Amino acid sequence: MPGRTDPALRCPHCHSASILIDESRCEACGTSFPAVDGIPVLVRNPESLAADIDAALRSNPAWYAQVQPPELSSPWRHHLRKRRLYVEQVLKRELALRGRAKALRFLDLGCGDGTNLPWLAPFAERLYASDYNMLRLTRAKNRNTGATLLLGDILDFPALDGAFDVVFFNHVIEHIPNDVGALKSVARILAPGGLVILGTPNEGAWWWQLAYRRAPQVRASTDHVHFYTADTIASKMTAAGLEVIEIEHIGWGPPDWHLDGRIRKYKIVDDAFEFIGRRLMPRQASSLYLVGIAPAETKH
Ligand SMILES: [Zn+2]
Repeated sequence: MPGRTDPALRCPHCHSASILIDESRCEACGTSFPAVDGIPVLVRNPESLAADIDAALRSNPAWYAQVQPPELSSPWRHHLRKRRLYVEQVLKRELALRGRAKALRFLDLGCGDGTNLPWLAPFAERLYASDYNMLRLTRAKNRNTGATLLLGDILDFPALDGAFDVVFFNHVIEHIPNDVGALKSVARILAPGGLVILGTPNEGAWWWQLAYRRAPQVRASTDHVHFYTADTIASKMTAAGLEVIEIEHIGWGPPDWHLDGRIRKYKIVDDAFEFIGRRLMPRQASSLYLVGIAPAETKH
């Protein structure tokens, strides 16, 4: 019996809708892609990807392998909970507006260790999750959420135009030098009127710039290449062809990275900073969430 081609994915070589996901192979051009633990590496040039990872490993050795704690075991668990509740509320609202309880095809783009997949899964008929770090993808697979996992390059993403009705793009964009290129990929793979929920640190805000000035060693070792404010990331989304319909600030804390991690693990502290910060410094939160919509007509 012939294999099943995936309805959302495209071949990185011939761009046809002919990826046999279980065989990690393109039915149209015959290219076989490497796979690890059943997770296909859907990139045009695996060697250049490996070189990129080597370069990132040299600049920040912990980056590749460091375990991302799930919400319940993170020192920022109360903050992460606030973020999750916000995203869940946006998903419920936007899916209801489209007359749905679940997205038909939902992508967690840059899923990392897959810590968000268990709570995203109920919003998806079919959940996809991608990253360009195979170690993280294998951890994501071990969560057994039923997601279709793949390794892909965000700038040449192996999905068809309009493939997804929701893309969750959480704390990824600040790591990508060509951020507008990545956002254009998001606009391309979203269905007309489709939804992107983008999360990123608000590190361009003066409050967090102050934290960096107080700790230049943190600034020197971060793997972030962009330090956005709400305005700068919103303008990049707009430049990529996405319509920004909502900007949310979440999470306030002291402008001191070490102290922040020590005291915000207490719910009362996180709640107090949230209550005061939201009123006195509404644009100095630690996290930003932007909700974007793809144009109703595709322009590709
Ligand atoms: Zn092909």
